Amino acid sequence: MNQPSSNRKSRSGIFHIGIDDTDSSDGMCTTFLTYKLVEILLRKSMTRLIDYPNLIRLNPNIPWKTRGNASLVLRLETELSRQTLFRICKSVIHRYATSERANAGLAIFEGAEVPDRVVEFSKGAMFTVQSLTEARSIMEKEGLSYYGLRAKQGLVGALAGIGNELKSDYTFELIAYRKNCSVRRTLDKSRIIGMDRDTRPLTFNCYDEENDRVLIMPHGPDPVLLGIRGETPRAVKEAFQMLLPLNNLLGYMIFRSNQGTGEHLQNELDLSSPKAYTSGKVNGIVSSLPRVEKGGHVYFNLRNEQGEIPCAAYEPTGKFRMNVLSLYLGDEIEVAGGIRKNTPKHPKILNLEYVIPLKLVSHWKEQNPKCPQCMGTMSSEGRNQGFQCKECGFKSKSVSKLKTRVERQLTEDRLYLPDLKAHRHLTKPLQRYIYEKSNSGNSAIARRGEFLENWILTS
Ligand code: ATP
Repeated sequence: MNQPSSNRKSRSGIFHIGIDDTDSSDGMCTTFLTYKLVEILLRKSMTRLIDYPNLIRLNPNIPWKTRGNASLVLRLETELSRQTLFRICKSVIHRYATSERANAGLAIFEGAEVPDRVVEFSKGAMFTVQSLTEARSIMEKEGLSYYGLRAKQGLVGALAGIGNELKSDYTFELIAYRKNCSVRRTLDKSRIIGMDRDTRPLTFNCYDEENDRVLIMPHGPDPVLLGIRGETPRAVKEAFQMLLPLNNLLGYMIFRSNQGTGEHLQNELDLSSPKAYTSGKVNGIVSSLPRVEKGGHVYFNLRNEQGEIPCAAYEPTGKFRMNVLSLYLGDEIEVAGGIRKNTPKHPKILNLEYVIPLKLVSHWKEQNPKCPQCMGTMSSEGRNQGFQCKECGFKSKSVSKLKTRVERQLTEDRLYLPDLKAHRHLTKPLQRYIYEKSNSGNSAIARRGEFLENWILTS
């Protein structure tokens, strides 16, 4: 592989290549196209990646995404000209983005510093809907080369990917590809469970213990065999090695990513004018008692000084719904998620991705008093008429109902998340909050090109 060389000529250029929307639900995967592109580029002389390929997940509430709203970025140093690079990328896109529904986008920025305008656009793409016109205008102003297929919507993601250099929290994913997409994926579940047990917390979301579900293997027609997520390149590689030998394995590549970081929820939602498809968080008071509706979905209203919005925890979120059902009127909470568009039947709804109880109200339960004579249970004789014992018939107007404090099922300041099987790619799992790390060191290593040995296995 073409990795760092110490006596490089100084005329090498730094390029950031963003690619998006090359796949559709009928097959393909932009990560696979990127894998193929890396394979080609690393064969060129005087070309080296200066970071692991980036797998950037954008706003997960964009309705026209195929699956996980992924944008792929390569950051490299090369003596190839921009035109040559552009031509290579274009031909790979033409070769693989063949679906009629792939509105592919390619953007190339040349330079070490990604312009502020691109960074700002990228920040917005994490939680709002960005316009294609705006993307084109920025690319023109900043001198990017770009190219699109069909509706060209992929240009939004391609530009947004370039602008997210994963400067704060990030994770890694090793994605393995299969030789033959018509061969069913088969993997021994007990080996995955063992790998998960032996590598956590350095890996995450490999296996959902509560629902006994393997999470590393997709089910669609795409070329992905499996994906293992973790905190370091070494962790995902070692976890992968525990699963070898693998049937139908073509190769693999390690990506640096914002998966599992919760980056899309850092935005504050404004309840006075919640915009459809926006992601973010908001504080408020529970203003209607949570209720279960058809399909097992749980709903309640949240209010703050800006306005009020219905919130939903859908059936696939599993036990999370029980936590939501345990909320009471008046509880002060922080919630996060995505705003679902209103329909003729429903207003806009906040689809919940987490709940944090900030201040729980005290909840009291009233019970009929005990008889002072025989300790039997008394029952009310009517409003202001006192109580009569069911056992001995003793009557009294001086006894009153007993009030007992109900123990709340929720804990203040604790994070409640949907079941693992319902996590989005960007959801930050509980174990990552516990395993918080500083990223600056890792980032510097990648920048110097000190890649883990065999971070890519080509076909
Ligand atoms: P996969 O996960 O399989 O790669 P996908 O879920 O990434 O697929 P795409 O087919 O890439 O789905 O479609 C997503 C489309 O949405 C792309 O065209 C992308 O440019 C666009 N897009 C992404 N984020 C935004 C945003 N914030 N605003 C507007 N468009 C966006």
